[in-house]
Parts: sequence; C-alpha cells; structure tokens
Amino acid sequence: MTRPIVKKVTCPNCGTEGDFVMYASINAEYNPELIKKMESGELSIYECPKCGKKYICNYPFLYNDYNDMARGIMPMSDIQHT
Ligand SMILES: [Zn+2]
Repeated sequence: MTRPIVKKVTCPNCGTEGDFVMYASINAEYNPELIKKMESGELSIYECPKCGKKYICNYPFLYNDYNDMARGIMPMSDIQHT
C-alpha cells in the first residue's frame, strides 16, 4: 500500500512553512507513475509556496518505520544547477 505522509518543512530561504508529501512503501505494481517520479528525482523536490525556491529533500523511500519517517528530520539541500 502506498502511503503518503505530509510533512511540515520550513523553507531555508524565507522561513515559510509548507507541506511536503512523502511516500512510504511505494508499490511498483499499483503506482508505476510514482516509481517513475522517484527515479527521476521529481518526488524529492519541494517547492516553497512563498518564494518559489526549490529544494531536494533527501529522504529514504520505502521506509520501513512509518513513525520514524514522520518524526524524522529531513535534510534539505539546494538543487544543484549544472
Ligand atoms: Zn521560501
């Protein structure tokens, strides 16, 4: 079962709090589109609703412990412009 988790994140740029949707236990059979987004990195991108700055949120997919994931601190990093 694919379980989305909405996590509050704070924009490092402007300090605005927003919602970032994470997915635990993505099922490749029922959610092939999510797998594609995960592979392309799209699922890891958070866009600030206020300043529009985008961040990559590095969190482990297919997390085993749902509660740990919801509580855990998520590292956010600037998207590398290459
Ligand atoms: Zn912001």
